[in-house]
Amino acid sequence: MVFEDNIAAELSGLRDRSLFRQLRSAKPVGDGYIEIDGRRLLNLASNDYLGLAEDLGIPAASDYAAGAGASRLITGNHPTYTDVETEVADLKHTEGALVFGSGYLANIGTIPVLVSRHDAVFSDRLNHASIVDGIRLSGADHYRFRHLDLEHLDQLLTEHNTHRRKLIVCDAIFSMDGDVTDLSALVDLKQKHDAILMVDEAHSGGVYGPDGAGLAAAQKVSAGIDVQMGTFSKAYGCYGAYVAGSNVLIDYLVNKARTAIYTTGLPPVVLSLVAEALRVSKHDQWRRDRLMENAGIFRGALQKANLNIGNSTSQIIPVIVGDASRTLEISDRLREDGIAAVAIRPPTVPVNTARIRFSVTAKHSREDLERAVDMIARAC
Ligand code: PLP
Repeated sequence: MVFEDNIAAELSGLRDRSLFRQLRSAKPVGDGYIEIDGRRLLNLASNDYLGLAEDLGIPAASDYAAGAGASRLITGNHPTYTDVETEVADLKHTEGALVFGSGYLANIGTIPVLVSRHDAVFSDRLNHASIVDGIRLSGADHYRFRHLDLEHLDQLLTEHNTHRRKLIVCDAIFSMDGDVTDLSALVDLKQKHDAILMVDEAHSGGVYGPDGAGLAAAQKVSAGIDVQMGTFSKAYGCYGAYVAGSNVLIDYLVNKARTAIYTTGLPPVVLSLVAEALRVSKHDQWRRDRLMENAGIFRGALQKANLNIGNSTSQIIPVIVGDASRTLEISDRLREDGIAAVAIRPPTVPVNTARIRFSVTAKHSREDLERAVDMIARAC
């Protein structure tokens, strides 16, 4: 019992500091609403930016026919994988693509393939946890640059220039801040320092660029990015992820990435759903237009109410509160008022920057968003 007493004490410490997390039963019920613990709430806390998770139906049985059975390198490489990979490579204008089980698996599997003990990784301080874990697993030296401070990145690259390989890795849209990376400047730095550039398009895939191809396509710099990673779990409303790049990179990943080799492939039914999500996202430009319009309305109204939304210019919009317990109180109050909005606290964000992370979707109505801002302003 000593072990359980120890961890119970640790959990009670988390509770005291308002950092305890708990699972709640949550079921989307349409039109941007969700049922949490039996209550219907306006969902301002999802990554279903295009509303596809709400709208996709279950694929016809003949499309998939089989569940998961083995690693892809054994007998798990159902033809739906190739369909999805061809579609992704087409969308991203790369030679190839490789599907992974999730974005987390893609990042922790890919980074250690690109770099190891004799190499260096230059990573934005606010990059996603899966990137940080991938760097740790790689054993490479880890240099963190101040958030979106490319002068600092330049300086670090100049100072640490004796490694065998240098990898720059950055989120395209930051998941807790909603600010957007200048990828073109990153490509310049990559060229200047002869580095490899990897970009995580988890929150920009499906949302930005022609046909939702992502931020690299929107900023017209895809050709300068060596490794484009993205996930099907946000705007595409499914599960799974991809890395897109040159054929030699994809072959290398198939041979080396432990999270592609030593794990069961996604069930073909999931790949069928992803294929459908890619098709609908490409076709339904109205979803992106509506999302951008909603995001603009919501950001504008929060700013008008004098709330601190940081540097968000995307569909992810934080209201930065600072103190973790106050942030929790605000999110509890919003739940009382019928709004699902999550308190994001350390260690997910730096100490004293606790916030409510709002995200809007193409499914929200203007009236619901404006009503929500009134309630948020009151709760804050
Ligand atoms: N990268 C970023 C920037 C993310 O926000 C996430 C989100 O969870 C991931 C990677 C991991 O993706 P997944 O949820 O598909 O594992």
